[in-house]
Amino acid sequence: QRAPVYGKVALIGLGLIASSLFWAMKRANLVGTVTGYARSQETRDTAREIGLCDEVCDSAAAACEGADLIVLCVPIGAMESVAQEIAPYLKKGATVTDVGSVKRAVIDAVGPHIPEGVHFIPGHPLAGTEHSGPRSGFAELFDNRWCLLVPVENSDAAAIAQLRALWEGVGSNVEEMDAEHHDLVLAVTSHAPHLIAYTMVGVADDLRRVTDSEVIKYSAAGFRDFTRIAASDPTMWRDVFLNNKEATLEILGRFTEELFALQRAIRTGDGDHLFDYFTHTRAIRRGII
Ligand code: NAD
Repeated sequence: QRAPVYGKVALIGLGLIASSLFWAMKRANLVGTVTGYARSQETRDTAREIGLCDEVCDSAAAACEGADLIVLCVPIGAMESVAQEIAPYLKKGATVTDVGSVKRAVIDAVGPHIPEGVHFIPGHPLAGTEHSGPRSGFAELFDNRWCLLVPVENSDAAAIAQLRALWEGVGSNVEEMDAEHHDLVLAVTSHAPHLIAYTMVGVADDLRRVTDSEVIKYSAAGFRDFTRIAASDPTMWRDVFLNNKEATLEILGRFTEELFALQRAIRTGDGDHLFDYFTHTRAIRRGII
C-alpha cells in the first residue's frame, strides 16, 4: 500500500466541497486522519452524525493543530477571518490551501496571515453542484474535473507537487494558472452564467402575467436547464461577485453588448444576423462535452 499523501488534513468549513473532498480522499486512501471544523453547531452535529471527518472539532484552531494540510472550504468572505484565527496554530512545513472560486481576492486576504515557514498554495476545483451543506458531498465530485492551482510568489515546488498529488488522487486533472487569468476565465465560464441564471428567474418572477405555477408547470423547456444553477447558495455567490468585481464587470459589459446586438437584430428583422450568430455559437457549444 502507498504511503498517504498527507498524514493529517484539516478541513475548515464543512459544506459541499469539503464533504466531497473528505469522501474522495477516503475513497482513494490518500490521507491519514482528517479533522474538520464548521462555524455552526448544527453543521458540526450533522458532520458527527454522518461520519464526515475522523474528528469534528469545536474550533478551527483545534482542527488545525498538527495538521500537514489545511484546506479552507468556507465562503470567500470568511477566508480572511479564518486565516487569522488559525495562523498561530499552524505547524512549520504545513501547507495551507483553499478552494475558493475567486483567487486574487483570496490571495490578498489570506496571504498576509500565513506565518513564515508555512506554504500557501491557493487552489480551485472546477467542480460543484447547486446543492450545499455537509450532506451534499459525494466522492465522485472531482472525477475528471479540473483543479487549478494558483501558486503565489516563492511557492515551494515540493509542496506544490504534494498538493497536486492529492487533487490527482481524488480524480482531478491539475493545472497551474495565475490569479488574474483564473479570475477572468472563471468570470466567463462560471460567474457571469450564474448571475444571468439568477436574473432569468428574477425576470420570470417579475412578469406577473406568468404566474408562479406556470413557471413551474411549463419549465421543462429552456427555463429548467438554464436556471438550474440559480438554486445555488446565496452567500457563496454574493461573495464571488463582491470579490471578482473587475472581471465580472468586464464580461457583463461584453454580454450586454452582444445582447443589445441580438435585440436590435430581432427588432429590425435581421434574420441573417441571428442565423449567423447561432450557427457560430452552436459550433463552439457543440465542441464542449
Ligand atoms: P457550502 O455552503 O456548502 O459550505 C460552506 C461551509 O462553510 C459551511 O459548512 C459553513 O458552515 C462554513 N462556514 C461559513 N462561514 C464560516 C466561518 N467563518 N468559519 C468556519 N466555517 C464557516 O459551500 P461550498 O459550496 O462547499 O463552498 C465552499 C467554498 O468552495 C467557497 O469558497 C466556494 O467559492 C468554493 N467553491 C464552490 C463550488 C460550488 O459549486 N459550490 C465549486 C468550487 C469552489
